[in-house]
Amino acid sequence: MSSTEGAPQIAIPAHLLKGQKALVTGANSGIGKATAVALGRAGADVVVNYVAGREAAEKVAEEITASGVRAAAYEADVSDEDQVVAMMNRMVQEFGTIDILVANAGLQRDAPATEMTRAEWQKVLDVNLTGQFLCAREAAKEFLRRGVVPEVSRAAGKIICMSSVHQIIPWTGHVNYAASKGGVQMMMQTLAQELAPKRIRVNAVAPGAIKTPINRSAWDTPEAQEDLMRLIPYKRIGDSDDIANAVVALASDLMDYVVGATLYVDGGMTLFPGFATGG
Ligand code: NAD
Repeated sequence: MSSTEGAPQIAIPAHLLKGQKALVTGANSGIGKATAVALGRAGADVVVNYVAGREAAEKVAEEITASGVRAAAYEADVSDEDQVVAMMNRMVQEFGTIDILVANAGLQRDAPATEMTRAEWQKVLDVNLTGQFLCAREAAKEFLRRGVVPEVSRAAGKIICMSSVHQIIPWTGHVNYAASKGGVQMMMQTLAQELAPKRIRVNAVAPGAIKTPINRSAWDTPEAQEDLMRLIPYKRIGDSDDIANAVVALASDLMDYVVGATLYVDGGMTLFPGFATGG
């Protein structure tokens, strides 16, 4: 089986995140969109961040409100400090606070290392790493100001960094991306260590190959799919809901004792599949 298409949707408990306020960056596409919708299904109010594509973002917000929760689309470039600060201030003003940050926004600018421009290197680091840091910093300030509200959650706040299997798997032709995700791993762990005493849980989800616009070339022809399957022991490409479900679980009190962990959601991609035949 190569995908979950046709399989019934997994039901998310509607009260799991009731009363919580979530911000998902880069939420008008792919994994971010599915995550924002899933958080709404779990009962959270959701801010859908986007940098381009207002209409798509507003559609996502509309879809979320169908779950009977609040949602709004906010424009901000996560790599711009002033815009991130303004977005967080607006969320606190309009939604009261923030309980869950999903630092998801990310991009690729691929090139062989010897041809990669400084601009391509910098753009990916700015969005994928600095963008996550700025959002995490601003969310943590609000978590600290507000503290634990026991009726809402056991934690004062939850930060989930969207990493990648490429935080540990080197990736030829993508040195900027792999470096950014390697950075996310150590940033996440350091933030987790620093903020845990304040009851803030920082964790990461590391997707494997998920069918989204970011990696179209890896799955849009039968040959590309076949190539990809060699890297996936579970023999199906992931979909955005696989990641969204993991984020919802990690954000909930079901995982209250999980701190500084990376949850690989990759169909076994990090299991050195090349060694399946003995190496
Ligand atoms: P996508 O291209 O569909 O989504 C990325 C989102 O980030 C888009 O909405 C884009 O507009 C947004 N974004 C880009 N720059 C931004 C900025 N400066 N400010 C705010 N938003 C910005 O791709 P996706 O696959 O859904 O990727 C989401 C995350 O998952 C990324 O961090 C990516 O690295 C990670 N990831 C994806 C895969 C995969 O196989 N698809 C695997 C591992 C990790």
